[in-house]
Amino acid sequence: MAIRKILIFGEDDILRKHSRPVEKFDKRLGMLLDDMADTMYHADGAGLAAVQVGVLKRCVVIDVGDGLIELVNPVIVESSGAAVNPEGCLSIPGRRCTVERPTHVVVRAQDRKGRAIELTGDEFLAMAVCHELDHLDGIVYTDKMIEDVTDQFDQEKK
Ligand code: ZN
Repeated sequence: MAIRKILIFGEDDILRKHSRPVEKFDKRLGMLLDDMADTMYHADGAGLAAVQVGVLKRCVVIDVGDGLIELVNPVIVESSGAAVNPEGCLSIPGRRCTVERPTHVVVRAQDRKGRAIELTGDEFLAMAVCHELDHLDGIVYTDKMIEDVTDQFDQEKK
């Protein structure tokens, strides 16, 4: 268990690369997922993709307040609805922008042992899943930005 360095978009080109499918479900993968969860919680984030700690593997961790979710080789197999909400990203600190995302997604993935899992996500979880899965294809949420609302969030903090 360890906290890894979160790479910052614009400073590291790896965030633009496509992650590769996980083929080995070994101890190393377990350690990576443990570290990713530690890193996400330490940074007070709701999700983290492996590429954000410099590992080009298709895995993400998410926790929107209902417990830790680990997804290895995730694929969205169903999505519906649309909502525009502000997002943030641990790799783009200090910014908030609105993005349109589906309000309902179904994801097929594997767990850390390679067993098939299916996850249904609604509302905030659907948004988090879409945000994290985009990272696996080198996409950051500001690519899909509708409006930069960073100023509004700064005012709320004061
Ligand atoms: Zn992100």
